[in-house]
Amino acid sequence: METCEATMATLRIDLAAMADNYLSIANRVAPAAAGAVVKADAYGLGATEVCAALSTAGCRHFFVAHLGEAGRLASLARSGRSIFVLNGLPVGAEEKCAEIGAIPVLNSIDQIERWNRYAKAEGRQLPAALQVDSGMSRLGLSAAEVDRVVADANVLSHIDLVLLMSHLACGDDASNPFNDEQSSIFAMIADRLGRPPLSLDNSAGCFLDRPHLDLVRPGIALYGGNPGSGVNPMKPVVSLEAQIIQVRAVPAGTRVGYGLTHQFDRPGKVATIGIGYADGWPRHLGGKGCAFIAGRRVAIIGRVSMDSITLDVTDVPPEHLYPGAPVEMLGVHQTIDDVAEDAGTISYEILTRLGRRYRREFPGLPCSPCQEGAAI
Ligand SMILES: *Cc1c(COP(=O)(O)O)cnc(C)c1O
Repeated sequence: METCEATMATLRIDLAAMADNYLSIANRVAPAAAGAVVKADAYGLGATEVCAALSTAGCRHFFVAHLGEAGRLASLARSGRSIFVLNGLPVGAEEKCAEIGAIPVLNSIDQIERWNRYAKAEGRQLPAALQVDSGMSRLGLSAAEVDRVVADANVLSHIDLVLLMSHLACGDDASNPFNDEQSSIFAMIADRLGRPPLSLDNSAGCFLDRPHLDLVRPGIALYGGNPGSGVNPMKPVVSLEAQIIQVRAVPAGTRVGYGLTHQFDRPGKVATIGIGYADGWPRHLGGKGCAFIAGRRVAIIGRVSMDSITLDVTDVPPEHLYPGAPVEMLGVHQTIDDVAEDAGTISYEILTRLGRRYRREFPGLPCSPCQEGAAI
């Protein structure tokens, strides 16, 4: 079997836990159906494996950001699953989109017109989702554009409108009144458009205390991220284990790393591990973040380098400190949300930046070979 020689670190993705997360959301939002957002290679975890596991768990609706991402999942579309392309229909991509069998999320009058014209020229109806802006001002038709669609039935003459969607701006803050405001704006627009199947909720929206319409679009919660601000109800999915490359004992006064930003005020021990910011470990965590060795917290000292990180392991029993010894970066002691908080960001960014140099393991599946293009 091919082994990955990029880093000696292992990223484990627990597909069974992810499927459990999917099922718990599906139960929670019923009778709404639960789809899955698998953009950015399923938040960096591997869309092929993730989609296979979610399909087995019963998921029939998948959302990606780009048409190219949909292309890699074309076999799902052929097996009757819906692949929605959130960023819509790029100019000139109509034929490609139809060929893949992807469903564009049409975000503007121009996109609607191009898809409709293409379908008409092909002499058939083509499916599409329509996104409307209910207050976030990111993607989707404005109120005036909705008026135009309502006024002129020809605009959608060859489009089979399978989903009407919008996106919450403040879903992760359950008490924010803007959630209700967006819900009612969306309901009004839905009525005007003849109430096609409706989708509003991302992960956070799934945990709001109100009905979930026809289809929900969770992403981060499937992958173990906290969909809200309280105790995380999801199972952790990702663990990351690095290895010690070298340990050195240092006298008091020793300084560490680029810029010599850390100085030992006592005799100590430094362990260097073989991942760095090129592996998505935020440089911002220099002097701030931590890892765990044999369950003990060890601080990141000095700056995070491209391919290595230095840890203060002074208080770790020596039997755990040897080349090749495991170091928990993500796991039972440190979640993606913990790392995100230390780094001043969100779990989404931690996950999607994890990068391509790890050996990926999907327990229960054969070990996946190194991703193409990985550096050695
Ligand atoms: C990314 C995305 C989602 C998923 O959001 P999570 O917060 O990860 O659940 C849902 N809908 C749209 C339109 C998105 O862009």
